[in-house]
Amino acid sequence: PEEPGAPNQNEDNLRSPICCIMGHVDTGKTKLLDCIRGTNVQEGEAGGITQQIGATYFPAENIRERTKELKADAKLKVPGLLVIDTPGHESFTNLRSRGSGLCDIAILVVDIMHGLEPQTIESLNLLKMRNTEFIVALNKVDRLYGWKVCKNAPIVKAMKQQSKDVQFEYNTRLTQIVTQFKEQGINTELYYKNKEMGKDTFSIVPTSAISGEGIPDMLLLLVQWTQKTMIERLTYSNVVQCTVLEVKVVEGHGTTIDVVLVNGVLHEGDQIVVCGMQGPIVTTIRALLTPHPMKELRVKGTYLHHKEIKAAQGIKITAQGFEHAIAGTSLYVVGPDDDVEDIKEAAMEDMKSVMSRIDKS
Ligand code: GDP
Repeated sequence: PEEPGAPNQNEDNLRSPICCIMGHVDTGKTKLLDCIRGTNVQEGEAGGITQQIGATYFPAENIRERTKELKADAKLKVPGLLVIDTPGHESFTNLRSRGSGLCDIAILVVDIMHGLEPQTIESLNLLKMRNTEFIVALNKVDRLYGWKVCKNAPIVKAMKQQSKDVQFEYNTRLTQIVTQFKEQGINTELYYKNKEMGKDTFSIVPTSAISGEGIPDMLLLLVQWTQKTMIERLTYSNVVQCTVLEVKVVEGHGTTIDVVLVNGVLHEGDQIVVCGMQGPIVTTIRALLTPHPMKELRVKGTYLHHKEIKAAQGIKITAQGFEHAIAGTSLYVVGPDDDVEDIKEAAMEDMKSVMSRIDKS
């Protein structure tokens, strides 16, 4: 990562970091996602949070509001945070590896009562392999015996309210887990003691996905960490970078692809190339779709149509010929100066890497 503040970096032109949630089954990945989406989403008053295709978008304003008790006085430079909704698919190793590939940062969830488990280590290996930055959410702190609930409180404040016994159990478990990480070759430290953000030591944030303690800390850390260590990576670029997450048949739309647009802009009518089982698929974007905002969820089965969409976003694309598209590959846009043949070749290169990943898993 570049030194923050180096020349040629335009902090006014950043895209949202993309974050995925990984970890062992039952550690609380789904619950954490529900918790950060908050109840206001269900109430239709989403605080700017929007449900996207395969992802949830949190605008910076929402994060600022929810972290104000931390008095971090954080200058939020990124427009928001895009969190990929894959926890439900976590039985697919392949999807997990894809998920971690397109993410700028990951939340590795560990159950404080269980410590590192087999899929924690598997996730850790994927993150190491791809050099993906991550933070550890040490979840279920409310299960420490005698925990006093401090709803949605910053973790230091919540911890001060706890009895000596609770604090002792917490410290013991934390120390054990730090040791377990060390055995995997990973240095970790409580986030507020880890001043060397992103420099060999990964941060731990204790959380409860049920009562919300530590959630403000987690949100702030994600944003601060990404904007401190990844300014260059997050600088918006016109070069389209886009990953196919899923290939799905949708009534009335035929076979569609769900993508995460990591960088650049997609337009209705763009000529695109995606990798297909029977060779490259060259087609034209018929529609760019996103779900309706929360309060309009009653309008079933319909989507919002967009003329163009700018990164970072989760989008459903309709076009002809997606029947044999392969999830996990990149989508390419054919520009006016591009040779379609070169792009077809590039698209098919992805096939090899996807296949080798399937072979390994
Ligand atoms: P996933 O498999 O990692 O997505 O885990 P889930 O989010 O489905 O959670 C597994 C179980 O743990 C569910 O019964 C949750 O209600 C529970 N759970 C998740 N997070 C917490 C937490 O912070 N505290 C407590 N007490 N239970 C939790």
